[in-house]
Amino acid sequence: MRLGVFGGTFDPIHLGHLIIAQEILDRGVVDRVLFVPAGNPWMKSAQAISPAEHRLAMVPLAIESNPEFLMSDLEIKRTGPTYTTDTLEQLSNLCGKSTKLFLVVGSDTLADLAKWNTPHRLLDLSTVVLVNRAGVKPINAASLEPFGEAGTERLICLETPPIAISSTDIRQRVAEGRSIRYLVPAPVEDYIIQHELYLTYRRRQSENTK
Ligand code: ATP
Repeated sequence: MRLGVFGGTFDPIHLGHLIIAQEILDRGVVDRVLFVPAGNPWMKSAQAISPAEHRLAMVPLAIESNPEFLMSDLEIKRTGPTYTTDTLEQLSNLCGKSTKLFLVVGSDTLADLAKWNTPHRLLDLSTVVLVNRAGVKPINAASLEPFGEAGTERLICLETPPIAISSTDIRQRVAEGRSIRYLVPAPVEDYIIQHELYLTYRRRQSENTK
């Protein structure tokens, strides 16, 4: 089995994530996609991130209608900073040798991933599937340099349609009282309204940059 591992803050999960995951399935790259909400994403530690319980609750609401989409809470359960290599190692032990791991990464996070996780270790544990992100410079040869020669075999660059949806934009829209309809699945929108998430997003962000 080929398992796509799609990590993220998912604050909140949005249609951009789901469209990319479906695209990877449709193209036959993987058989299932496992969404892995981040516990304590050190890369975003300067920002206010919603409590794990909310981010963890929204993913099942978003994926419930698709049996090929799964979720793992292993990063949330882990204490301390989250490193992708640790997650891949844990998943590889849990799933066994018959499962091949495919790490799904947007072009905007590639540089950070290579900087903070040993690139050759990432490629030992998984095949990295890179997807383009709207508004971000497309992946080119220079961005793949840190991965060295092994990168040519264990990196798949997918030409995916750019989808201009981000969690940041969704949080901002909620804070400004604008609609997020058609940007997140309806049950996720209901959850955000019910739990009054992101209403103070801008204020919290500026508090953190003081
Ligand atoms: P934020 O705006 O808070 O940074 P985000 O929209 O980037 O959030 P994350 O949960 O941080 O969402 O993203 C998880 C992964 O999904 C990352 O690898 C990111 O690059 C990728 N991703 C998110 N949105 C898109 C999109 N619209 N198109 C392609 N990749 C995406």
